Amino acid sequence: METQTDKINHADMVRQLAKDGNKILAELSPLKCHQWHMATGISSEAGELLDAIKKVVAYNKPADRVNIVEELGDLEFYMAGLRQAFDITREETLEANIAKLGKRYKQHQYSDEQAHARADKESPALPENAIEQSELDAVRERILRNNAIQNMMETH
Ligand SMILES: [Mg+2]
Repeated sequence: METQTDKINHADMVRQLAKDGNKILAELSPLKCHQWHMATGISSEAGELLDAIKKVVAYNKPADRVNIVEELGDLEFYMAGLRQAFDITREETLEANIAKLGKRYKQHQYSDEQAHARADKESPALPENAIEQSELDAVRERILRNNAIQNMMETH
């Protein structure tokens, strides 16, 4: 019996499924570019931090504390920028993290069994926290206004 995976090779599947870059480009906005920039920064700075830790763990080099602080700061920058882009406070993320891990671990105490069970993943993620386009537009307006104010302050 022929299966679905027999009918197409991987390269063709990728060509068919990868979204056309022109369509992505046509749907871009300054806010989406800002969100992408911040998210990309988090990923790249996490890689730089990982490299600093790799040198300690894999190569037995002394920890470069100055560099680790720098990379953590870079991560904080992009994380703050991404939170701003979605109008999310740091406190909100910390509270959500405490709540999630409180579901996963009774009394917030680690155990391998609870880590494997991942009790917090039992309920499906519902879009109740989805951000409406109008909210994103309002955030975009605030970013643009703040940028304009910052530009004015820098030129005076
Ligand atoms: Mg860096």
